[in-house]
Amino acid sequence: MRTYDVIVLGAGPAGDYAAALATAEGLDVALVERENVGGECAYWACMPSKALLRPGELLAETRRVPGLGTGELDVTAVLSRRDEVIHGLDDTSHAERQVNRGITLVRGHGRLDGERRVVVDPGDGSTETLEATRAVIISVGSGAAIPPIPGLSELAPWTNREATTATPAPGSLIVLGGGAVGCELAQAWSSLGTQVTLVEAAARLLPSAEPFASELLQASLRERGVDVRTGEGATKAKRRGDGDFRLELDSGDELVAGELLVSIGREPHTADLGLDTVDLAPGETIGVDDRMRVPHHGDWLYAIGDVNGRALVTHAGKYQASVAVANIMNRDAHAAWDGPLTPQVVFTDPQIASVGQTLEQALEAGVAARAVDADPGSSPGASFIGKGAYSGARIVVDEAREVLIGATFVAPEVAEWLQAASFAIVGAVPLRTLAHAMPAYPTRSDVWLELLADWRP
Ligand SMILES: Cc1cc2nc3c(=O)[nH]c(=O)nc-3n(C[C@H](O)[C@H](O)[C@H](O)COP(=O)(O)OP(=O)(O)OC[C@H]3O[C@@H](n4cnc5c(N)ncnc54)[C@H](O)[C@@H]3O)c2cc1C
Repeated sequence: MRTYDVIVLGAGPAGDYAAALATAEGLDVALVERENVGGECAYWACMPSKALLRPGELLAETRRVPGLGTGELDVTAVLSRRDEVIHGLDDTSHAERQVNRGITLVRGHGRLDGERRVVVDPGDGSTETLEATRAVIISVGSGAAIPPIPGLSELAPWTNREATTATPAPGSLIVLGGGAVGCELAQAWSSLGTQVTLVEAAARLLPSAEPFASELLQASLRERGVDVRTGEGATKAKRRGDGDFRLELDSGDELVAGELLVSIGREPHTADLGLDTVDLAPGETIGVDDRMRVPHHGDWLYAIGDVNGRALVTHAGKYQASVAVANIMNRDAHAAWDGPLTPQVVFTDPQIASVGQTLEQALEAGVAARAVDADPGSSPGASFIGKGAYSGARIVVDEAREVLIGATFVAPEVAEWLQAASFAIVGAVPLRTLAHAMPAYPTRSDVWLELLADWRP
């Protein structure tokens, strides 16, 4: 049995970051990983999807700028750059970086075995027991959930794994689920020549976003040739004699395509994690308090990243890692800004960048909230970036406290705008102070003049 200060179970972005932070604090850390160091994000999620999206996004922008021509994408080159971004699914360099920090990397499937103990099974018939003197951090992430639609799971449809690593581009693709993952991958493959149908059972795409953002994205995807079907649920899946997928919808329509991607949500990797040995339910999300501690387990068990269900994005997992490590070091740290307040970017064209509360969420929470809308597309900067593209912006303000509590920007390349709004929200900067921040001319940030007009000096 080997003993460490901290055992981190799962080396996705949350666990990877937690291990690095704990090591930097001087702790002796074991990082257990059964597959690739870097996790889903680096190989089958964030990174490959962005590599697939960026060329089409840039091409659309060049087409909006007179003088740049109307080139076409070189699909082979795009896919080969995607393969480069995911290092051909080889995690050697990523793993070496962690080992060079002084982290002990233990390869294999880890399971809890009572308090502070983890048994690792490397798959060669042996097992190794690790013991933690201070804490175990669970960061095992999530996998694609397959809904109980008759026939679906037997057909082995695409999940995010196949949809981010496929070569060549399929001729046709049905995407089931119009959340961030479904919308991004629908656009990515459509830009690479695939005929895409996007099916969402809710009345609109991105159901938890501001409604105007869903509308703009839907219009843009349709303009790009994606067949968007909202308010239609799938009832049955089959494969035809020629191998194509056939999906029946509750509207009575039937869709046929060469591939079918299921992107309706995620389920935590907790079914085979030894949770029963510490009185937790296998297969469930692991709930935590705002210190990332699992309740009723003293101060030794933490859960961060997708597995705790608070916000299923990489940066939330990293934020939670810093909170968990601070508490392990006996500093009193609480997560206050993840969960529904987490910044989110949907990297479609237009991008949807949002942080904090939507108007609906704020009103439901009983806040005296008001929305202010403006269009960054009509600002002077939009003569040069995103000219004529779908665009819109909304801020949500708390009228009583006169501070920003939410923001949504929709336009090409607005992902980098988000941090400014996050600073204002997290810092609770008074709107009357914010209104002194001059947007440089001519940029699309000019939209802030309109958004903050009521609080002008
Ligand atoms: C297509 C797609 C695109 C996305 N794009 C973005 C994006 O642009 N930005 C963003 O912020 N988020 C994005 N996300 C979400 C993001 O990928 C996840 O939130 C993030 O990967 C979660 O990190 P994690 O460390 O919690 O878990 P994971 O990344 O899932 O990593 C968990 C690790 O634990 C390992 N593991 C599991 N069980 C065990 C075990 N028993 N023993 C040992 N190891 C184990 C796994 O092998 C894995 O390496 C995207 C998701 C998808 C599906």
